[in-house]
Amino acid sequence: MKYKHLFGPLLSRRLGLSLGLDLVPYKYCPLNCVYCEVQNTTHLQTKREAFFPVTEILAELDHFMLDGPQLDYITFSGAGEPTLNSSISEIIQHIKKHYPEYKLALLTNGVLLNDAEVLKEILPCDVILPSLDAASQAVYEKVNRPQAGLLVSDQIAGLVKLRQRYAGPIWLEVFIVPDITDTPAELKLLREAIKDISPDLVQLNSLDRPGAEDWVKAASTKRLKEIKNYMAMELEMPIEIIAKIKTPPDAKAPDEEIVNLIRGTLTRRESSAEDLAFMLDIHINEISNILRELNAEGVLQTARKARGVCYSWKS
Ligand code: SF4
Repeated sequence: MKYKHLFGPLLSRRLGLSLGLDLVPYKYCPLNCVYCEVQNTTHLQTKREAFFPVTEILAELDHFMLDGPQLDYITFSGAGEPTLNSSISEIIQHIKKHYPEYKLALLTNGVLLNDAEVLKEILPCDVILPSLDAASQAVYEKVNRPQAGLLVSDQIAGLVKLRQRYAGPIWLEVFIVPDITDTPAELKLLREAIKDISPDLVQLNSLDRPGAEDWVKAASTKRLKEIKNYMAMELEMPIEIIAKIKTPPDAKAPDEEIVNLIRGTLTRRESSAEDLAFMLDIHINEISNILRELNAEGVLQTARKARGVCYSWKS
């Protein structure tokens, strides 16, 4: 069966072996983060939609789960914001009913959590990984580039409500964009907001492969450690730097057939991750993951074009 909504299982930095379940089309999101690895948001919206028939998504999942695969998590993620899918509750209930032995994770930017209905729907998840990169409106607009009218104070309020209603673990991701989100003033505000949210874990992240904007650079390990120490002075929960993933020796290597398809394509023509996903009919997160590894191996050349980051194979 050819999957449209499933990708992986991929070895995720935060969740181990994770089967991705993508509930929204490319690329619907209320934010357009400058560091987004799946590039610029094409549909900037907070309006929730069904997008696809639920039966279509569940048929793929049921097919994949037939053999009882080994997974650390089934994860709502992908190339957009999963809570925009108005059928997420039905899908969660199906997973909880039919696959109770699997843990369910939700990656979300948290924008919709101020909505009581959305919050109620996601409560059965086993772990929720929201993000918060800024605490002032000015930095929020610069880094997360929200849909007009969205307030970071509402996003923080939604995360506080999540903490009040949700008994499971909350792992808050904070993405550091050097010189913008890590100024003394912004870090102070962020630390206060995190104190109010009280997640179980704070994970500091930074750029790992080209983001939506060329000017975004990775924070150095030294800087991330300084930020961690600064946060730890007032926060009680653990704070960790999300390390670049080291592929364990027993991990499945990227599918050779897919690597060959990518190499064949990139040798002939420069392509973006989105181009490759479309041409090869493979989920963009799977393509992105392989591109990240190939990039780390040094076999790719990257160039920023109007349509985003483009890759070619070094000759
Ligand atoms: S990083 Fe996440 S929240 Fe930001 S634009 Fe990309 S998909 Fe949306």
